[in-house]
Amino acid sequence: MALVALGLGSNLGNRLLNLKNAVRSMERSGLRVMRASDVFETAPWGITDQPCFLNACALLECALSPRELLESLKDIEARLGRTMTRRWGERLIDLDILLIDSLIHREADLCVPHPEMHRRGFVLVPLARIIPDRVHPLTGRTIASMASDFPEELRICSL
Ligand code: ADP
Ligand code: MG
Repeated sequence: MALVALGLGSNLGNRLLNLKNAVRSMERSGLRVMRASDVFETAPWGITDQPCFLNACALLECALSPRELLESLKDIEARLGRTMTRRWGERLIDLDILLIDSLIHREADLCVPHPEMHRRGFVLVPLARIIPDRVHPLTGRTIASMASDFPEELRICSL
């Protein structure tokens, strides 16, 4: 069993419901959701002319291979109604694999740790709520320490 940290985001439709439905779908797909963070409202990143996101993180226990997990998450995104939009653009639901144990895996279509996570407060701040002491395998820093670089994120509600 691998311990997997996931990032969840939504900035279209009923954003909180989209996050909750994603967690429910994961459980129905046999992924065991051990912990979920609070939900944070965050300004869009990269492309700024789009609605604000709700972001959260979850910790899963998972027997799938990394690639099977990615496929399963893409299925859930599609089932919840995500259609392809521009990179970093608006979406009903975005499910990103952040960490899988201490795995380092570098391929364009599956990169773990997630290649942008160390630059994104909206990932690190919720993640620090659930796995503060976990060490990022590339930076060698704890998630809590990495999150402390981003003190401005706003907590709003529970998932
Ligand atoms: P982003 O989340 O960066 O805005 P997308 O959700 O559209 O972009 O993902 C684009 C592609 O990124 C996916 O089709 C997937 O194959 C690839 N990808 C690479 N690494 C990861 C990862 N760790 N988690 C999720 N998707 C990943
Ligand atoms: Mg994604």
